[in-house]
Amino acid sequence: MKLYNTLTRKKEEFVPLEENKVKMYVCGPTVYNYIHIGNARPYVIFDTVRRYLEYKGYDVTYVQNFTDVDDKIINKANEEHVSTDEIVTRYIKETFTDADGLNVKRATYHPRVTEEMDSIIEMIKVLIEKGYAYEDNGTVYYNTAAFKDYGKLSGKNIDELIAGASDRVSEDSAKKHFADFVLWKPKKEGEPGWDSPWGVGRPGWHIECSVMAKKYLGNSIDIHAGGEDLIFPHHENEIAQSEAANGCQFSKYWMHNGFITVNNEKMAKSAGNFFTVREISELFPYEVIRFFILSGHYRSPLNFSRELMQASQNGLERIKNSKKDAIYYINNCREIELKPDENLDDLNVYRENFEKAMDDDFNTADAVTAIYELVRHMNISVKNNASKTYMEAALKEFNELCSVLGILEKDEADADSDVDVALIEELIAKRAAAKKEKNFALADSIRDQLAAMGITIKDTRQGVQWSKTN
Ligand code: AMP
Ligand code: ZN
Repeated sequence: MKLYNTLTRKKEEFVPLEENKVKMYVCGPTVYNYIHIGNARPYVIFDTVRRYLEYKGYDVTYVQNFTDVDDKIINKANEEHVSTDEIVTRYIKETFTDADGLNVKRATYHPRVTEEMDSIIEMIKVLIEKGYAYEDNGTVYYNTAAFKDYGKLSGKNIDELIAGASDRVSEDSAKKHFADFVLWKPKKEGEPGWDSPWGVGRPGWHIECSVMAKKYLGNSIDIHAGGEDLIFPHHENEIAQSEAANGCQFSKYWMHNGFITVNNEKMAKSAGNFFTVREISELFPYEVIRFFILSGHYRSPLNFSRELMQASQNGLERIKNSKKDAIYYINNCREIELKPDENLDDLNVYRENFEKAMDDDFNTADAVTAIYELVRHMNISVKNNASKTYMEAALKEFNELCSVLGILEKDEADADSDVDVALIEELIAKRAAAKKEKNFALADSIRDQLAAMGITIKDTRQGVQWSKTN
């Protein structure tokens, strides 16, 4: 299995630090608003990476934090005249609602910054002791000049940083170097604060992730991930902090997803060109949003539009119908045993293609194509009156591959839980009886009654099939 490592800028064979185990850290959101579909991309992508690693037999420990202290949270609390705690509690809940809707598995740990203050203070102390940080008037800065590998992830050198930084550093800053960044800052009026050796204050953003990764995964981890906007400065700074404090490589592999764009511009809260997952979920089911995100390679930009969402919905519908048809066929087919011209090995090619795609830096777009090919094969097999044994094997393959992508995992019965299955079956039986008696007027009126209930029926060789009208 190969993955693209931002650190080495090439695709590398994945070899975990410890056999069969993967330690993975994904930077989580700052919780002050609903997540937009750009934020949903790392959620879905790295959840799929995790699922594939688990499918391959790895025991994955997955950590995703919540940044629950930040200027944006404080501003939002002030705007609404409520506490930061209220804002944070609300948006963690809403984020989980969206992540659950997108079928993102819960992380092994979801640490929150405000609950990790002791460990944060501890790491800052170590950095000061080792000469990688200095204090000025209650503010602690990281001393980038002391870390000789600074810039190794982003490929930026210090000179470039100086050139680009002039507009980011205020005149009165006590920083020794343009690239130095804050580890601890003093509390201002109306802000939350914690006691520390440098006075009451709060941590900078970057130190949080270094601390939480260490606490829940250890000094060295296998995969660190996030959106590509985090490469610099966030991940560069995480490396500087963790490697200086712990004295060993922080993360072996660094993975970054590309942006979701709107008209080729990065979707961002600050740009105002964003669509929240919640508002999109009112137009398209969550599952379609997940399928849309998986339709492109995770490192390429993915343009968001209503048309592309509609195309994803149509594609997913095709896959769903195939599953439904296969289940119906299996439940009604009388030919049980494998036929002489059937060979279960014929099904291997789909899994092989799927794995080949996923082994090549998690190419979910090609993995979806492998599922489409299996869908075509299943449809043809139903038409050709395949045996029940063959169709069951095909459906099992199908279900396993879909569950690696986190799609179509809901039981069909669950999906139909809001309809009265018994009543539908009864009406279908009545309609069949009416047709048999050549009472076509009654048969048509029952069809209309079903349509009014939002149920579409289809006469097939295996009998009548029904589905919810889209
Ligand atoms: P934020 O809350 O802005 O820190 O973002 C949370 C996560 O979403 C980070 O991993 C970001 O890199 C990622 N992200 C933000 N905007 C986009 C976007 N338009 N496309 C893809 N990922 C994004
Ligand atoms: Zn982070």
